[in-house]
Amino acid sequence: MGKLTSEIITSLGLESYLMSEGNLPLSSPIDGESLGYVEETSQADAHEMISKAKAAFLKWRVVPAPLRGEHLRLLGEELRTCKEELGYLISLESGKILEEGRGEVQEIIDICGFALGLSRQLYGLTMTSERPGHRMMETWHPLGPVAVISPFNFPAAIWGWNFVLAILCGNPVIWKPSEKTLLTAIACAHLFEKVISKFENAPPHLLQLALGGREISDVFLENHDIPLVSATGSCGMGHYVAQQVSNRLGRYLLELGGNNGMILAPSAHLELAVRAVTFSALGTAGQRCTTLRRLIIHRSIYDQVIPRLKSIFENVKIGNPLESGILMGPLINKEAYEHMQESLKLAQEQGGKIHGGTRVLKEKYTKGYYVKPALVEMPSQTSIVKTETFAPILYVMTYDDFTEALQMHNDVPQGLSSSIFTQDTAEAEIFMSASGSDCGIVNVNIGPSGAEIGGAFGGEKETGGGRVSGTDTWRAFMRRATNTINYSGELPLAQGIHFDVS
Ligand code: NAD
Repeated sequence: MGKLTSEIITSLGLESYLMSEGNLPLSSPIDGESLGYVEETSQADAHEMISKAKAAFLKWRVVPAPLRGEHLRLLGEELRTCKEELGYLISLESGKILEEGRGEVQEIIDICGFALGLSRQLYGLTMTSERPGHRMMETWHPLGPVAVISPFNFPAAIWGWNFVLAILCGNPVIWKPSEKTLLTAIACAHLFEKVISKFENAPPHLLQLALGGREISDVFLENHDIPLVSATGSCGMGHYVAQQVSNRLGRYLLELGGNNGMILAPSAHLELAVRAVTFSALGTAGQRCTTLRRLIIHRSIYDQVIPRLKSIFENVKIGNPLESGILMGPLINKEAYEHMQESLKLAQEQGGKIHGGTRVLKEKYTKGYYVKPALVEMPSQTSIVKTETFAPILYVMTYDDFTEALQMHNDVPQGLSSSIFTQDTAEAEIFMSASGSDCGIVNVNIGPSGAEIGGAFGGEKETGGGRVSGTDTWRAFMRRATNTINYSGELPLAQGIHFDVS
């Protein structure tokens, strides 16, 4: 069963937040049992947080970036020492298996290392000027307090992607975590505080937690003193955030839902492909934004692949994610289970043939929602296939012609991650080309799930267009100034314009 041990409570600094009564209930999806309560952040407190973040910004923005990077290196070190405990808490609260809980902590450690390197590389360009005796360059400056809204399924890593870059770039953060994974957020904040409190040059309130449901987000969406809102979650949430922040012409960075496909071509290495489908479709019990949801398979290999996948789906080890050997834990809650069942019903009405998808272990876990993953053979890509259901459902469609497969692949509203398994170089190149996959992540001979932090992460269309994590995504957290310096002793104007008063 899922337990909060006293060792976890102490080492992750949960004791001052955890209460036996309060207005925000905590529970584990493992067995649905209560983990206690925490106090909700009031609207007044949320406004106060913005004032504190503004004050912190004035001090933090002038700390040299390499020093900010050094603080983040130490955060990475701190996370190494408590990887086991934090990984356990993540699993306990989100229901993912321990191996994936630990992996999530590793992701933050990795981005701390990335940030340290970046701290000496926040480069701007220099440009040639058309005017004699002039120099042009761009400089990148801290932006201001950033609000981060995060989902339940990566309760620590998504904070890490955003927070580490925001802090590196000189910005304090107000974090509104998912109401389903508040303890993980409290633990992350505690670990950062432990590191940062040792430094005299670091002001207080670099990270503040706004605990509550979606309503508390409004305070940050509407306030001009929050120049950037970075929100990760469902497309519905993204629509709302975009509208609210646009009303005040603020900036937003959106990381929203996916509907990730794989084209499985006749030349593919089928052993590897089956393993990739298994991890991509069943990992995190189908609750990853990059989960494989659509398999577009060449008709000629259908009978070789689909029976094997059915057998894997039937026999995958489902159970308490804290136990070794288990590959699939529970869904996050009852609503997620009901949503999955509604989608399966619609799939059936739209001609789908369903294998699996039923609830299991309900005698043992009356309040835990464990399901057999569903493999659904579809006659075509119907409306339900074009919808993201955040559960382990893999829709399978066939194709005869590569152009048809590509067209089907792109014919969904979301554009997060994609993959192709093929040994045909031309197919692989086309898939990655301008006329290929329209997603933000385009993989060849690996599944769509399990990205590394070095690459920019995010997607197109209704996925929101934002990017976080690697390469140059830091730019979203800074403001750019274009500087022109005149050392000529004259005052020539651009475009050769003469504007002389004498
Ligand atoms: P969710 O949209 O229900 O909630 C995400 C966060 O947004 C939570 O903190 C929630 O309280 C808040 N929220 C919800 N509605 C809001 C609103 N109207 N205004 C302001 N805040 C609001 O998502 P979830 O169920 O926690 O997570 C699953 C979803 O997140 C899936 O759609 C998944 O694909 C997506 N996701 C995307 C990425 C990515 O990088 N693209 C990563 C992880 C998850």
